[in-house]
Amino acid sequence: MSIYKKSHMTYNEKCSNYHFRKTHMEQLNLITNFLRIKDKNITITDEYDMGTHLELHGHLDYTAPKCPKCKGQMAKYDYQKTSKIPYLETAGYPLLIRLRKRRFKCKDCGKMAVAETPLVKKNHQISVAVNQKIAQLLIENQAMKHIAHRLSISTSSVMRKLNEFKFETDWNTLPEVMSWDEYAFKKGKMSFIAQDFDSLNVIAILDGITQATIRNHFLRYPRKVRNRVKVITMDMFSPYYQLAKQLFPNAKIVLDRFHIVQHLSRAMNRVRIQIMNQFDRKSQEYRSLKRYWKLIQQDSRKLSDKRFYRPMFRMHLTNKEILEKLLSFSEELRQHYELYQLLLFHFQEKNSDHFFDLIEQEIAIVNPIFQTVLKTFLKDKDKVLNAMELPYSNAKLEATNNLIKVIKRNAFGFRNFENFKKRILIALNIKKERTKFVLSRC
Ligand SMILES: [Zn+2]
Repeated sequence: MSIYKKSHMTYNEKCSNYHFRKTHMEQLNLITNFLRIKDKNITITDEYDMGTHLELHGHLDYTAPKCPKCKGQMAKYDYQKTSKIPYLETAGYPLLIRLRKRRFKCKDCGKMAVAETPLVKKNHQISVAVNQKIAQLLIENQAMKHIAHRLSISTSSVMRKLNEFKFETDWNTLPEVMSWDEYAFKKGKMSFIAQDFDSLNVIAILDGITQATIRNHFLRYPRKVRNRVKVITMDMFSPYYQLAKQLFPNAKIVLDRFHIVQHLSRAMNRVRIQIMNQFDRKSQEYRSLKRYWKLIQQDSRKLSDKRFYRPMFRMHLTNKEILEKLLSFSEELRQHYELYQLLLFHFQEKNSDHFFDLIEQEIAIVNPIFQTVLKTFLKDKDKVLNAMELPYSNAKLEATNNLIKVIKRNAFGFRNFENFKKRILIALNIKKERTKFVLSRC
């Protein structure tokens, strides 16, 4: 940082000093090297510390080239008016390069041309380095406003970069295992997303979730390609079972394990709340059922044995002992807790017979909240069985869910479906090839 201030000050003082002049130029060369401005045709003549940002002033010049129009010889003309090029921030300060570009004029046809540099693409205001940085930050899923602020450029420059990303669908391949899901990209607007289960690459993001939208999209793949799909995982209550069967005749429909467990645990949670609300709000029952909800949701095999002082009970208790207190408040809570834990256990241990026997045995006598979930398990028994027999972990879907949450939070509302789509594609389809991608954009 200090070299800017010092040299600028001393430059004013000792301008005529040849020795200083020489070291000054060397220092400027050092700066261009340091900033990776490799174009030898750029000469930096001055540097300024503007307080809020740093500025480099310079010009771009080289021997007159041949005329792009008539191939005649061009000659040096004047300099174009200064262009402002925001550059990557340096030592925590935004850096602005003010560059004057040489203009050439053709001796034969009079055509004018402006000197070019790899620093900035033709007709661009943004340097290539900044452009790469925008791409990288978009891939890292940063908010557009944040990117604009960080690089001292306008949000519309970031938008333009976003629009440069092109994704093309390959209609000749589909993964063997796909996941289907729906996400709201704004209030009341749903989007259909199909992902490659193994690579997480997004195969389709559709504006809308109607059967027609999905059918029309997948019918663009030849039947031969569609026949290769072996498994499609999807959520319970999905309206797409029939459609998936029609489009992908060889695919097994598998309910996602994550969603099955999620439906069970939501039912448990709602039953807890219903029972909790029967107690007075100031009672220990109400307060502890509210405070320790996680102990009920958790897999009972994972409860900790560590003893701590618990102000609510005014004694030292382990999590297991707290849970025992909660269950002692209500017989209904205890029964549902035990059923919930047993179902979780059988599901995780893949004891499908025990799992379904237990459901059939209990379905008539459980709370209506549980009844609804258990009924769908019975109705979609084949798909639940697939989930127990085939190895699909939940970690991947969760990763996508979280990613989409972050994208939605970062983007100032998606008025535009295309932006939502692009950001998801950038985040999920490019991530792994980040380095390669940035390099290929040089
Ligand atoms: Zn010419």
